Amino acid sequence: MTGSLLANSISYAIERKRILDELDETRRQQLEMKDRFLSHVSHELRSPLAAIHQFVTILLDGLAGEISSEQQRNLEIILRNVNQLKAMIDDLLDVTRAETGRLTLQPKCISLKDPILESYGTLRARAAQKGIFLSTNVPNDLPAVYADPARVYQILTNLIDNGIKFTPEKGTITVEARVFDEDPNLVCVTVSDTGYGISPEEKEKIFEYLYQGKDPLEASRKGLGLGLFICREFVSRHGGQIWVQSQLGRGSTF
Ligand code: ADP
Repeated sequence: MTGSLLANSISYAIERKRILDELDETRRQQLEMKDRFLSHVSHELRSPLAAIHQFVTILLDGLAGEISSEQQRNLEIILRNVNQLKAMIDDLLDVTRAETGRLTLQPKCISLKDPILESYGTLRARAAQKGIFLSTNVPNDLPAVYADPARVYQILTNLIDNGIKFTPEKGTITVEARVFDEDPNLVCVTVSDTGYGISPEEKEKIFEYLYQGKDPLEASRKGLGLGLFICREFVSRHGGQIWVQSQLGRGSTF
């Protein structure tokens, strides 16, 4: 290579690196701005939503006077939607926290029975409303684990909630925990449903940010496509792994 050619290609490489660095910096700034915006908006939405929740509950409890059965039904619909909105905002906040490294775990020695029974208690009625039988199976001698109980609860409610969404009437959802066959130092928790199942092509994609599969029943489309992304984030921060086994039309086990 002649001297001038060499000098040209070096200056080209330097220029290229400078442009790439600039692009990286711009992209980083854009991401930061998006995170700040999302975090701010989600925070701001929380207070009015909490107020709506509080007053609807007051009305439902009859504390502001007697209500008719039609009013009760309508208020219950409002409450369900408020709770759904609240769950979406919480998801958005968790995602921005994860992206900015502010998502923290508070692990301690716990029995998995507690968050499992708690999530069961939260979602049993919703499952029953859809004609789905929700059950749990946790052996009494299951060893304690080192985990953040609030995050485990969140993972489980996300998975059970998906099970309810993607399982038709008369289906079942089972939450089980056992010592992991492949490593006795680990515990394996499964949430299995008898629902629509997931195609082989979708199995990896469903854990991605904002991914939503084609809904077999458009009517059950609720959510932002963040649930499994958050589950994977929480599980991996616990040093664990999450995956799915599924057969279309037969059901899924996470
Ligand atoms: P969302 O539920 O808000 O769509 P998720 O991240 O929780 O977002 O799920 C991503 C996608 O994975 C869903 O849109 C759905 O297509 C698929 N999925 C999740 N759980 C199940 C399940 N139990 N059965 C069938 N498909 C599921």
